[in-house]
Amino acid sequence: MVRNIIIIGSGPAGLTAAIYASRAYLKPLVIEGPQPGGQLTITTDVENYPGFPDGIMGPQLIMDMKRQAERLGTEFVMGNVTSVNLSKRPFVISVEENDKRYEAMALIIASGASARLLDLESEKKLMGKGVSACATCDGFFFKEQDVMVVGGGDTALEEAIFLTRFAKKVTVIHRRDKLRATKILQDKAFKNEKIDFIWNSVVEDILGVEEEKVTGIRLRNVKTSQTIEKSCDGVFIAIGHSPNTKLFKGQIELDDKGYIITMNGTKTSVPGVFAAGDVQDHLYKQAVTAAGTGCMAAIDAERFLEGI
Ligand code: NAP
Repeated sequence: MVRNIIIIGSGPAGLTAAIYASRAYLKPLVIEGPQPGGQLTITTDVENYPGFPDGIMGPQLIMDMKRQAERLGTEFVMGNVTSVNLSKRPFVISVEENDKRYEAMALIIASGASARLLDLESEKKLMGKGVSACATCDGFFFKEQDVMVVGGGDTALEEAIFLTRFAKKVTVIHRRDKLRATKILQDKAFKNEKIDFIWNSVVEDILGVEEEKVTGIRLRNVKTSQTIEKSCDGVFIAIGHSPNTKLFKGQIELDDKGYIITMNGTKTSVPGVFAAGDVQDHLYKQAVTAAGTGCMAAIDAERFLEGI
């Protein structure tokens, strides 16, 4: 069976594309991916998505979007896409978990982005043993403990603020002396008595490999080159995200950071393939912009299908 549209990814971009494609009677199939619902499922309060004057929890927002897409006729399959063939239409998308190949005349890629890590040997060895990239997933395990958060963006401050619910003390390590995060989050973090900052510092190593649990962190001041060791029980890495585009390398044009290049809306270098959300956006990366480009991708795909 050749479908009209397959959507890879089930964050706000993929789900909005699904809502629009369903309302155009295109019966889209969404392949949910390794993190169904995407990054909103690992956040807490979302205060900047329009329509929710009192804010909404990220997982709730995603559940509502999914229910809306389902009600309108979207089909969902769980599973990871393992390969795609975009060399001719119909495009072929293989999904490992259910050992299936799906075919479609148009494809919307909304595979999002994943948390970046520091690339230290100790970080790999201590992942899940005190090192984490998700405070909402793991914060609970750090009750009354000392934790570090690495990064200076919105994610780092959101994680730091969230961790104060559990931890005794939260220290944010940032490589500059100015935060990248939005002012409202900066204000909240500066006002929080449990949060401290260490500026101009990078993580040289995470300590505790022999003990098989995090015992501390070694930092280097980038201005003075001085190194210090600080004891702690947990290290949360919040240094940004990389686009999930490995599957598409060599088949569609990517920029030098690996993001899908889109033109004239959401078109990619392959006719019939469209991209939406964080997989093609290194600038805004917001839930609302992801949803907006998801809507654009569905409209672009619908027009493409009308023309073939
Ligand atoms: P980000 O804005 O790219 O910030 C990454 C932070 O990590 C920066 O402060 C950066 O330092 C630091 N960093 C990067 N590589 C590093 C390394 N190797 N070692 C040490 N530090 C490193 O990423 P993000 O905070 O994940 O946010 C991504 C996007 O999502 C943003 O557009 C943000 O607005 C959005 N977001 C929004 C919300 C919200 O609105 N509620 C919540 C979360 C995320 P420099 O500052 O020196 O570059």
